[in-house]
Amino acid sequence: MKQPIFAANWKMNHAPADATAFMRAFLAHFGKRQDRGVIFFPPALSFGAVVGALKDRPDIQLGVQNIYWEDKGAFTGENSATIARASGAKYVLVGHSERRHVFGETEEETGKKVAAATRAGLTPIVCVGETLAQREAGETEMVVLRQLRAALSTVSSNDAGNAVIAYEPVWAIGTGKTATPADASTVHQAIGAELRRLLDSGSTAVPILYGGSVNRGNAADLLAAPEVDGLLVGGASLDAEGWASIVLT
Ligand code: PEP
Repeated sequence: MKQPIFAANWKMNHAPADATAFMRAFLAHFGKRQDRGVIFFPPALSFGAVVGALKDRPDIQLGVQNIYWEDKGAFTGENSATIARASGAKYVLVGHSERRHVFGETEEETGKKVAAATRAGLTPIVCVGETLAQREAGETEMVVLRQLRAALSTVSSNDAGNAVIAYEPVWAIGTGKTATPADASTVHQAIGAELRRLLDSGSTAVPILYGGSVNRGNAADLLAAPEVDGLLVGGASLDAEGWASIVLT
């Protein structure tokens, strides 16, 4: 029986006061339970407000949406994995499609961020996914597995085995288009097979999440698909009641 992970990526939404109000509403719908993991990724400036709102809920985890790969120094505007960890984060998103495609993050940089996260004791959630053009050219598996190998190439197989992977087809993020559960499952199985090869083990405990226009209507079917271990959700995680109903799927 898998214990699904539900990760909420708020992107650049919810200022501190909104984040606090969200948490008040969400916690009213979501009591403590052991059978699922919930992780919030607020914007950096709202992080402290969410830490405060969750002070009595250690069952709910927090992560940051991005880090820089150096541990400290003259990097104006950036936050390090060390600062994130000291602020209460346990997770960090690495290689999100918006970082890759809006901010030009390279595969080499995702590797450096995974290494920095690992050094600081943060769990990286490595996001991989193909564009529509790559999908139509039949390159999905090649692209996704190349991104996966690049991101994990900087850490030992032991540390890679502590990562989380999120398959997020770029064409499905924020578009209202979702991979079918069968399509998602096919890519998840390919990722799982590559992880077993990379980690040199017959099985791995690395959870593989699906993300891309998940909502209340499709969450249960996606979660039921083979090798889908959880969901990474953007838009549909912004409303407290709606997100609670997804988390309670
Ligand atoms: C995301 O930001 O990781 C995401 C999957 O966004 P959305 O759910 O809005 O497609």
